[in-house]
Amino acid sequence: MSNRVVAVVPAAGRGARMGGNIPKQFLSLGDIPILVYALRTLESVQSITDIIVVIPQADQAFCREDIIQRYGIRKVTDIVAGGLRRQDSVRNGVMAITETPALVVVHDGVRPFVSKEIVMNAVQVAMESGAALVAIPMKDTVKRVNQEGYVEDTLNREDLWLAQTPQVFRYSWLREAHELAEAQDLEVTDDAGLIEQLGYPISIVEGSAHNIKITRPEDLALGEAILACQKLEGGE
Ligand code: C5P
Repeated sequence: MSNRVVAVVPAAGRGARMGGNIPKQFLSLGDIPILVYALRTLESVQSITDIIVVIPQADQAFCREDIIQRYGIRKVTDIVAGGLRRQDSVRNGVMAITETPALVVVHDGVRPFVSKEIVMNAVQVAMESGAALVAIPMKDTVKRVNQEGYVEDTLNREDLWLAQTPQVFRYSWLREAHELAEAQDLEVTDDAGLIEQLGYPISIVEGSAHNIKITRPEDLALGEAILACQKLEGGE
C-alpha cells in the first residue's frame, strides 16, 4: 500500500465573523499571512508529500502569487475552489487528490500555530489506527442549557475534549465519509463527525492551547500574543 500522505487545507471561508473585506486566512499576523504559517508547518513534515489548498474561487490567483509563490511553499500541488460550507470545501480538496495516498491530513488554514510535533504525532497515530483527531481536554465546567436559557445539567468534563485540527484519516475512510454525507445530506462541522457516523474508531492525539482558530477580530490579538510568546521561547 502507498504510504503517501496528502494534506488538504480548507481556507475558503469568507470570514464573516471577522468583518472587513479580506478573508481572515489572508490577514497578517506578525507581517505574514495567517495561511502561510499552517502551510509552512505542514510542508516541514517529511511524510507529507502534497498539499492541496482550498480557496475561494475569486482568490485563486492571489493565493498562487501572493501566498504560495511569494513565500516559497513548494509542496502545494493544487489550488482548488471551495464550497458553501467547510465540509464542501474539504470534499472538493479530497476529490482533487489524483494518486491514492494512505492518509489525508485535514488542517484548517486559519490555525497558524499547530506545531510540527503535533502534526507528526497525528500522522503516526493514524498510520497505525486509521484515524486521529487532535483535541485538548476540557478545562472549564460545561453546562447543558435549554432553549429558555435555564441550565439542564452539568456534563462530566472528564469525558469532554475540544476538537482541533489536524484530523488525519485513512484516505478510503474519508472518501467514503464524504460520499455518504453527500448521498444522505449530512451536515457536520468537522470531518471526524462524518467518520463517527460510519462507525470507524478515531484516536485522540493531544493538541495545544496555542492551536487556536482565528475566527474573530480578538483572535488576531491573541495570535500576536502567541507569536510573541513563541519568539521568546525560541530565544529570538
Ligand atoms: O468557519 P470555520 O471557522 O469553521 O472555518 C474553519 C476553516 O474552514 C477555515 O480555514 C475556513 O477558511 C475553512 N472554510 C472553508 N470553506 C467554507 C467555510 C470555511 O474552506 N465554506
